Amino acid sequence: MDWKALLHEEAPSPYGEVAPPVFQSSLFAFASSAEFEAAMNEGNRPVYTRIGNPTTRVFERKLAALEGAEDALAFSSGNAAMAATLFSLLSAGDRVVLATPVYAGTYGLVNKMLARFGVEADLVDGKDSKTIIEKLPGARLLLLESPTSYTFEMQDLSALSRAAREAGVLTVIDNTYGAAVYLRPLDFGVDLVVHSATKYISGHSDVVAGAVAGPARLIHEIRAKGLVFLGAKLAPWESWLLVRGLRTLPLRLQRHQQSALQAAEFLEEHPKVRRVYHPGLASYPQKDLAQKYLRGSGGIFSIELADGAAAREFADSLELFQIGVSWGGHESLVLPLASQPRVAASYAFPEGLVRLFVGLEPAAELIADLEQALAAI
Ligand SMILES: *Cc1c(COP(=O)(O)O)cnc(C)c1O
Repeated sequence: MDWKALLHEEAPSPYGEVAPPVFQSSLFAFASSAEFEAAMNEGNRPVYTRIGNPTTRVFERKLAALEGAEDALAFSSGNAAMAATLFSLLSAGDRVVLATPVYAGTYGLVNKMLARFGVEADLVDGKDSKTIIEKLPGARLLLLESPTSYTFEMQDLSALSRAAREAGVLTVIDNTYGAAVYLRPLDFGVDLVVHSATKYISGHSDVVAGAVAGPARLIHEIRAKGLVFLGAKLAPWESWLLVRGLRTLPLRLQRHQQSALQAAEFLEEHPKVRRVYHPGLASYPQKDLAQKYLRGSGGIFSIELADGAAAREFADSLELFQIGVSWGGHESLVLPLASQPRVAASYAFPEGLVRLFVGLEPAAELIADLEQALAAI
């Protein structure tokens, strides 16, 4: 882990401040037209905040260092980062191979939005490497998410990205779960890594943001097309909050991981729980992939209740876990997935599937809360 990138600043400043300034300015002015032209042509100074801002740049460089990437680009949401990436790299007539299940926002972006612009998609079960590899010749882009949202299945990143490279196909992954700390996909041959920084990277449930990291050439292309034309830039103040979130990211992840594993182990033994979907458990069906790719497992996982019809009652009975979407902040959350119609309709989840996010509260109190809610159903 590049702790220096997280905790220290790159450039010495005359004031010695240890936190970056917030450059809350929409434009940057020049004393001469020669300086202005140099900034426009060489990008050596900021010009306009839609295209780049010094505070946002601090966040981008720190995230790039964590991912082991040459560069990164921030956006106003995770979906904006994914949309800018796909709209920059794809054209009408191109085909995407989409590993499923996938986050609902990505599913909609590919199947409802890009489809209207003449981009085709092949949806293939992400566990089925053989079929994914068969679909690669002639495709433009392979889109992965591992572990997946909702059921936390893993994909074989090295094998898939190697096959994609041989077929001339770019591999893009949603790495929101791994958060650049527990998974570094570029180490395994993936070309581009997309994040919802709303989750662990922000860490305090107060920012919606996204980013993409990868080789300078591709990031430049996404900046020139996706950022400049689509315009979904991240605000300077929110960039500053993300820099602050990054400082404690590894510490927070450790705490989420410890508490969530304890909760998952408790739930796995409980007679009212049919199954626990958690890549850190000894019973995880894709243990070999988890060991190969993940350095840790974080705070999010799902359970399937033995009595599927009790999912809403279970969520309503919890006191410390609040009902809510998103995750990655300080507060524990519960989401009965069957009651989220858009998600359930796309993937036919078991009725009793409930997603839990274990926050920073004491694990023993969270487990006691799970125990009383299970007793109530
Ligand atoms: C939340 C999320 C997104 C979308 O990010 P936003 O910041 O909400 O736009 C994408 N992928 C995953 C896995 C997510 O959890």
